[in-house]
Amino acid sequence: MSFAQIAGHEGTLQVLKKAVLTGRIPQAYLFVGPSNVGKTLTAVELAKALNCEALTAPETIDDIEPCDQCSSCVRIAKGIHPDFRIVQPVTRINAIDDEEMELDPVTGERSKKKDEFVQMEGAEIRIAQVRELIESASLMTNQARRRMYIVTRAEAMNIAAANAFLKTLEEPSAATTFVLTTASPSDLLPTIVSRCQVVNFHPVPAAAARDFLVSRYPEVSAEQIQSIVAMSSGRIGWAIKLLQQPDVLQIRSDLLDLCVRLAGAEWEECLRGGELLVDAAERWWLATNEEEIAEKALKASRDRVLRTSMGDILDILATWFRDLLLLASDATADGIINMDRAEQLRGLAGRYDAKKCEAACEHLQRMHGQLQQNANLRLAAENLALRLIVT
Ligand SMILES: [Zn+2]
Repeated sequence: MSFAQIAGHEGTLQVLKKAVLTGRIPQAYLFVGPSNVGKTLTAVELAKALNCEALTAPETIDDIEPCDQCSSCVRIAKGIHPDFRIVQPVTRINAIDDEEMELDPVTGERSKKKDEFVQMEGAEIRIAQVRELIESASLMTNQARRRMYIVTRAEAMNIAAANAFLKTLEEPSAATTFVLTTASPSDLLPTIVSRCQVVNFHPVPAAAARDFLVSRYPEVSAEQIQSIVAMSSGRIGWAIKLLQQPDVLQIRSDLLDLCVRLAGAEWEECLRGGELLVDAAERWWLATNEEEIAEKALKASRDRVLRTSMGDILDILATWFRDLLLLASDATADGIINMDRAEQLRGLAGRYDAKKCEAACEHLQRMHGQLQQNANLRLAAENLALRLIVT
């Protein structure tokens, strides 16, 4: 990876490169922008540029590009550099079962398994994570020219963690930069925000995202890429996730097939539809997370896991009904999201009126909100399927 391989964000990258060139690096940055748009990726490249062994005397802004080969670049990319760390909100997997005690193959003794964490809906950044960061930042710098600590989804710091972090910002240590990322800066302590230099990340324009993905994934059809770009709303990382995992593309395809079937469905079939939605959420989770940890998390807290991935499932369904809504008012309309399904959509458009499509979109939106609460997921999914049929 390098700055040149980041899709979009030209203006933002110029600002950061200039800071590297002039050596005016603030103690803390706040990268603000939608999730999966490239904030963390950019922060990692910044850490590499600030410490690259081949980048010692840059003369112009164009020289600011990490080599990606020196030991510093490689270790940062692998996440094993002692002066570089990424902290993210995680939930402990509560493996309360027989396997909690692990047999040590050498001593033959049983010891408590080490905690394992996973990212999911409602996860927090805990004070222990921040303390560890502070401890590391307080040590004498050993290898880096500038140490870099990235805190992703910084609004997920719980109040104790946020206060501990604020203290660190109040007592800056030399040659250390924190990069916080967030999609909602108003959820951060204002006292933290005011100590950071804010850098904005905008959704990646569709044309730039499309060109980038077409060159990177030549095996995927142009129509499918166009659909995925439109679906991602400029969140290029989300689009890449879809393209990197064939399973995820299959799930999208299955969901759109379900939408077609629901158009003519009786209510009994909607119960089956609800089951398929929950099933899709489970498959999505398994396809987008590291296998072993994904299965453990599913076993330990199935309900929360499914709530986490159901958000993406609802987003995909919403694109379908947005397309139908567009076609309900103008059958020849351009700009539908699911380009690769244009024919099917046009065939169905006559059966849905605009009011029905709007109601479906609104219900999908409402269900997004309900995911945070303790609604029964299976019932909510069945109810949703019922509302997506034509009648
Ligand atoms: Zn390098």
